[in-house]
Amino acid sequence: MANSSPTKCVIIGAGPAGALAALYAARRGWDVEVYELRGDLRDASTTPLNFTKSINLALSERGINAMRQSGSDDLLETVLSETVPMYGRMIHGKSSSRLSEESQQYDVHGRFLRAVDRAILNKLLLNEVEALPNVKLHFNHKLTGADLRKRKAWFEQQPSRKPETADGAQAHQKQDASRSTEIEVDFDLILGCDGAHSSVRYHMMKSVRMDYEQSYIDTLWCEFTIPPAASASHTTPSARDGFATSPNHLHIWPQSDKMFIAIPSTDKSFTCTLFAPSADFTSLEKYPDGFLPFFQANFPGAADLVGRAELRKQFLENPHLPLISVKCSPHHHGSAGVILGDAAHAMVPFYGQGMNAGLEDVRVLFQHLDAHPSNMQGRAKALEGYSAERVPDAHTINDLALANYWEMHAGVTSPLYLLRKKVEEF
Ligand code: FAD
Repeated sequence: MANSSPTKCVIIGAGPAGALAALYAARRGWDVEVYELRGDLRDASTTPLNFTKSINLALSERGINAMRQSGSDDLLETVLSETVPMYGRMIHGKSSSRLSEESQQYDVHGRFLRAVDRAILNKLLLNEVEALPNVKLHFNHKLTGADLRKRKAWFEQQPSRKPETADGAQAHQKQDASRSTEIEVDFDLILGCDGAHSSVRYHMMKSVRMDYEQSYIDTLWCEFTIPPAASASHTTPSARDGFATSPNHLHIWPQSDKMFIAIPSTDKSFTCTLFAPSADFTSLEKYPDGFLPFFQANFPGAADLVGRAELRKQFLENPHLPLISVKCSPHHHGSAGVILGDAAHAMVPFYGQGMNAGLEDVRVLFQHLDAHPSNMQGRAKALEGYSAERVPDAHTINDLALANYWEMHAGVTSPLYLLRKKVEEF
């Protein structure tokens, strides 16, 4: 390809990392095509990621800075207007048979995390991307193969409920109009933003000497919702502004090998997550009558905030999902491909940095690309530099996430932790 033509960049996955990468690439005048396995998440009929309605995430400076530097003036302001500040943790427990709440500030200077709904953040990023003329979004397209040496990718186009808006991928069709269609797409650079079970990573591994490590922890998670105070049967002493408990905390009910957390939403509800050993899930699935006593014994007060009947219903209806951790190296293939976000470093969620690190990957990648000529040799150097910088960082965040698992579910109540806090306060 002549150096003067725009780089053709194919992005796999329209999650937070893929959508932000599309924005960065499009702002550089590249010819960008995004392929997403699922339907458009802005369409109400689309099954969301992980089959949950939404999950609330902690958005930190790492992710905020990546959006700040995207070149989209209003993006950050729009995203931040959809967040709720969380100045610290609220530890819920029981002392002398009374329910207790203890606020632990995150930062002596008052800095804070922000709670954001992943689906809302993703929608705002996609709106921004869609407004750019040099981006084509292809939903219901699954990457089925990629040859990074020949710079070709293959997709299965799933029949969609709504007609596709994009029309750029119709070349080389092996037709079967009634069912899925296979298409072949050429690229200069492929960005694998396709999550923990990344197909791009799998195809990259065939021709790169990639070290790869994957593990599951013996903990499952399930989502719950605490309704706004107006429809909740109980509230806590810290409740205010229409929220059933303090809106400006990440709430934790710690318990040695399990925990329940609640993160505020702009609609005054909380999205909550139960993390517990798989054996607990198995026994509760078998004996759902034991669910309320289990909750009352382990997470005092939480059942009443969710609502006792709702608690059981949501446990039975919502999926029980695993937690995977992925480390690999390198994150790139010559000048042809690179993996970002969970595709490169899925991590357990206890450090609240998985998505933030994925957004930061995008910023760092384009910093390297901007520092080199936009030909193949320049791109190869940029991708090599990116892997060299990012792999150790990704491995470290991954390890910290596992370490924070201990801190969140047990450490926050340990005498050592409380002593350290007292010393800091002093
Ligand atoms: P994903 O969000 O997984 O998106 C990948 C996309 O690729 C999907 O849309 C998928 O459909 C698509 N795709 C997959 N395969 C293909 C294919 N073959 N072809 C085409 N498309 C494909 N992170 C934080 O920063 N803060 C938090 O507080 C936080 N809390 C979390 C709590 C829980 C319970 C969990 C499970 C995770 C949490 N995370 C948190 C992590 C965060 O959700 C992920 O790191 C983030 O969603 C990863 O974004 P991504 O764009 O890399 O991948």
